[in-house]
Amino acid sequence: MATLPVLVLNSGSSSIKFSVYEAAGSERRKLFEGEVEDIGANARENRGKFWIKSYAQDANGTKLVDEAPVVPDLDAGFALIAKALKQPPFPPPAAIGHRMVCGGPTVTENQRLTPELIDEMERYTAFAPLHTPVAIYIMRQVLREFPDVPNFVCLDSYFHRNLRPVARQLPIPEAYSAMGIRRFGAHGLSCESIVAHLQPYVPARLIVAHLGNGASISAILDGQSIDTSMGLTPTGGIISGSRTGDIDPGVLLYILRDLAGRATSTVDAANQLEKIVNKQSGLLGVSKLTNDMRSLRRAIAEGNADARLAVDEFTYSIRKFIGSYVAVLGGLDMLVFTGGIGENDSATRAEICAGLEPLGILLDPTLNQARGEAKISASGSSATVLVIPPAEDLMIVNHVCRLLKEQLETQQ
Ligand code: ADP
Repeated sequence: MATLPVLVLNSGSSSIKFSVYEAAGSERRKLFEGEVEDIGANARENRGKFWIKSYAQDANGTKLVDEAPVVPDLDAGFALIAKALKQPPFPPPAAIGHRMVCGGPTVTENQRLTPELIDEMERYTAFAPLHTPVAIYIMRQVLREFPDVPNFVCLDSYFHRNLRPVARQLPIPEAYSAMGIRRFGAHGLSCESIVAHLQPYVPARLIVAHLGNGASISAILDGQSIDTSMGLTPTGGIISGSRTGDIDPGVLLYILRDLAGRATSTVDAANQLEKIVNKQSGLLGVSKLTNDMRSLRRAIAEGNADARLAVDEFTYSIRKFIGSYVAVLGGLDMLVFTGGIGENDSATRAEICAGLEPLGILLDPTLNQARGEAKISASGSSATVLVIPPAEDLMIVNHVCRLLKEQLETQQ
């Protein structure tokens, strides 16, 4: 059976992550992963972080690279990765998969990447303004660096492509709906990986709480996403690290009018508003301290009332979404926590679930101390509560292998 090395690229707003898997039939083996972090202006003393781990010999990973280079911009960050990937021990990739949050209304299927497709997706940068520019940049660079390797785009919005019409359609005038303004959701690859992980016993009524720097809740019926908290963009839904989540549109209008008096143009005012709702709000805005849950927990332990209020707003907004999705699903069989906070922060999980006993959600305080994959519900809980780490890159490899196979079949 042929083994295919598949390279996966997955970027954040100031980081470029990659992983290399070996695929043989339905077998998948992670060989390497790496990341350039803190690219650009946010870098401490202008230094980024560049690391690579190998999993070829050791399942826990062996560090191959651990450096703090100067990474002033994306060009510098990408150059580090491209140079590393083109030499041993990295196998030349047979295919490359790119994570993309949302391709816009015309690109809703995972598919082969072409320069024209990239141009089309770039028209909808505003649908995921923190993520799309870096993803587009990397796609163009990779097509240039690896011109003979098939590249594929894998969308977070793909898992949410069949949302119920009542969830998908936004209550706005037809002219804007016709422009493609609707709920797309995000974290789809994470949710999809949870559903794949649960196979063949996927519960009928499932809620996934993906709680990382960005956070979302999804209602999944018979393995299909029917509603999800993020909206047109990842700014909507529950509050997250530095994003507002759902907010009265009147607040946006008020801020926009306030900015308009000082902005140089309408676009400048809109850009400033975007920065406020995406980078200065959420846990950071309320705590006036940080968007990072570990730092917030330390501040709470020291008696910081703003940090306490920020985390309370976070868990409260999640509790409300879980309650509403139990209503949408007509009950609940399973709740899954995932993402950096969902996997690691037992206090957040406990605070979210406190008061959800009438919905059949009861945590076992001892089991809830777990980090990583675990069952944390009490024996009397009617819904099973699990912690499952997300496996977005593995999902991308699965999509890439399927698309590669389809492509070969149509060529025969
Ligand atoms: P991203 O959405 O950028 O992928 P992650 O899924 O890595 O983010 O989640 C980052 C969040 O997870 C941060 O708020 C971080 O503080 C939190 N986190 C990570 N590890 C822990 C931990 N051990 N305890 C509490 N929070 C944690």
